[in-house]
Amino acid sequence: MSKEIPLKGCPKLMYNGPCGGGSGNICEVTRGKCVWVEEYLRNPENPLFHNIVLDKGFKITDYIPKEREPTSSFMMKLKNGVKTLSYEYVAERNVSSEKIRDELLRLKQVYDAVNFIDSPLGAVHIDPMALAILSKNLGVEPVVQVSCKDKSRVQLEAIVLSLMLHDIQNMLAITGDWPHLIGDKSNRPVFDLDAIRLVYLVRLMSDLGLDYRKRRILNARIIHVGVASNPYFNPLELEVLRLQKKVYAGAEFVETQPVFDKEVVLDYVKRLEERNIHVPLIFSLIALPSYKYAKALEEFARVKVSIEYLDMLKSKGNEANLEFIPRLAEELLSLDSVSGIHILTLGDNNMGLELGKRIRSLL
Ligand code: SF4
Repeated sequence: MSKEIPLKGCPKLMYNGPCGGGSGNICEVTRGKCVWVEEYLRNPENPLFHNIVLDKGFKITDYIPKEREPTSSFMMKLKNGVKTLSYEYVAERNVSSEKIRDELLRLKQVYDAVNFIDSPLGAVHIDPMALAILSKNLGVEPVVQVSCKDKSRVQLEAIVLSLMLHDIQNMLAITGDWPHLIGDKSNRPVFDLDAIRLVYLVRLMSDLGLDYRKRRILNARIIHVGVASNPYFNPLELEVLRLQKKVYAGAEFVETQPVFDKEVVLDYVKRLEERNIHVPLIFSLIALPSYKYAKALEEFARVKVSIEYLDMLKSKGNEANLEFIPRLAEELLSLDSVSGIHILTLGDNNMGLELGKRIRSLL
């Protein structure tokens, strides 16, 4: 693992490739060119794209994380080839613990695990750790999203210690969005680590019982760490290289950004196989509320929503999801390379429950 300086001109100070928030070569923050994509197009062999780059704060740089025995029931299923069904729970600013408990208990009947989000796009949500503790107490397997956004490595390390303390064994390490995208612009952005260095930090703490400065952690526990990946990223090979680095850093499962058709999944899987990347792949499917929302998403996230889904949303509105998503889930679950399906509904938890029931019957 090398210790090279990052490229200049990246507002998030990424060390290991593009943050994933940009669209093609357009920077999510400046709307100018993404310096990482530009560098890749100029010199794809630059070692920055192939080696994990740690900053000088890391006192351990030669650890190579290995495959581990799973300890959480979610990870056991993934490792044992049992296809999983998980859900992204959005509580936003709903602080009714009764309502949240009720929804989680209903979701538990159909989902193997529930993810708790970390204030995406700078929009304030209840802290995912608080929801994960509540969830664990209800017997619902939590996956805590931990975003590098808005946190120094001290804060990130504190979160990992808290996961260990509460015996919460699954987390998703993400870089996170620039917090001004829809959030308050007076908020000062902090990007101390990127997802790759966060994965490596978690594996140091979890496997070796040491933190980034080599300080001992007493009674360290296993935290299974997953990462995000975008099958629509352009250039896709750059996204594949970034995923390869995440796996080298110790990532144990992947949750993709939402996908809308099987062909995109097949192409993405083929590219991973060509790079010899073998890690459980969970594909996200999102229930969009309307045709208008789908078109806005295409524009904002540069994804290609399938024409069939767009037509269905246009003619049937939100109801289209109950037809389209289980059908796509069935197609994807028939592929050996698909380890699970992850459902997003942007907070429509009744829709989430109904989709969960329909997809569960296919497993
Ligand atoms: S899109 Fe992300 S990685 Fe690229 S320059 Fe902007 S902040 Fe940096």
